[in-house]
Amino acid sequence: MKANIHPEYKEVQVHCACGNTFMAGSTNEEIRVEICSQCHPFYTGQAKSIEKGGRIERFNKKFNR
Ligand SMILES: [Zn+2]
Repeated sequence: MKANIHPEYKEVQVHCACGNTFMAGSTNEEIRVEICSQCHPFYTGQAKSIEKGGRIERFNKKFNR
């Protein structure tokens, strides 16, 4: 354990689940978030297209057999 940590705000990297990273002030070493301002409007469209693509691929496979 480190006894001499500086409990002051510093710029740390925030890791988002979307892969985006940005800087924010925190006392932690790093931050992980599931949704950031970058991916929030982008997230719904991306998730939808992935789900749709997966379903169509499955559907086509079934019918090609
Ligand atoms: Zn994000």
